[in-house]
Amino acid sequence: MTGRTVIFGGTFDPIHIAHLALAEGAADELGAERVLFVPAGTPPHKGGARLSAAKQRLRMVELAVLGNDRFAVSRVEIDREGRSYAVDTIRQIAREENGGRPLYLIGADSLADLGSWREPDAILEEAEVVVAPRPGFDPERAPGDRRGRVRVLATPRLDLSATAIREKVRRGESIRYLVPDAVRDYIERHGLYVERKERGDGAAG
Ligand code: ATP
Repeated sequence: MTGRTVIFGGTFDPIHIAHLALAEGAADELGAERVLFVPAGTPPHKGGARLSAAKQRLRMVELAVLGNDRFAVSRVEIDREGRSYAVDTIRQIAREENGGRPLYLIGADSLADLGSWREPDAILEEAEVVVAPRPGFDPERAPGDRRGRVRVLATPRLDLSATAIREKVRRGESIRYLVPDAVRDYIERHGLYVERKERGDGAAG
């Protein structure tokens, strides 16, 4: 691997077109060789909520990235025992890539939460954290010195969340064009999100 890798972690329950558009825009803007999507095994902040099975979330990410040569999927968090901490993922992927400093992509909402993640300073040192703007979250107003330690991308603000997708499915509304067709088929086939109370906590980890 010669170019840099963008690590993009998330619950991806389900992956949606904002994730994909941001990843594509980030790869372009950063001149990165690839984006590695890393579905969380057991997310620290969402662990108690009713989450789709890790293998289902992984499968949806695999379906979503098909056909994009710059996109790949990593199972590191799903295969690792215990909770999925970003800092462990960054270290593991950096080791596998001979010690380079990876890029780590998060949305502006995640930047606002970063202080509650495990070893936030180590994350900011060991990866170059890049932030996608998101409606309702101003990366310029990130707490402490965090704003000065990250790069804010010029990717568009896309008002879409996995929560909104799950709610639409539950209400019987169409999610066409909001997720890739293959992901929509998977959700339908497996009856995901049909009868599910929404979780209260929207944090990533
Ligand atoms: P949920 O609604 O279940 O909390 P989500 O849509 O935020 O999910 P996650 O899988 O939690 O999706 O997000 C993975 C990463 O993508 C996080 O860093 C999150 O900030 C970022 N992200 C997701 N949607 C957007 C968006 N519309 N704009 C910017 N960043 C986003």
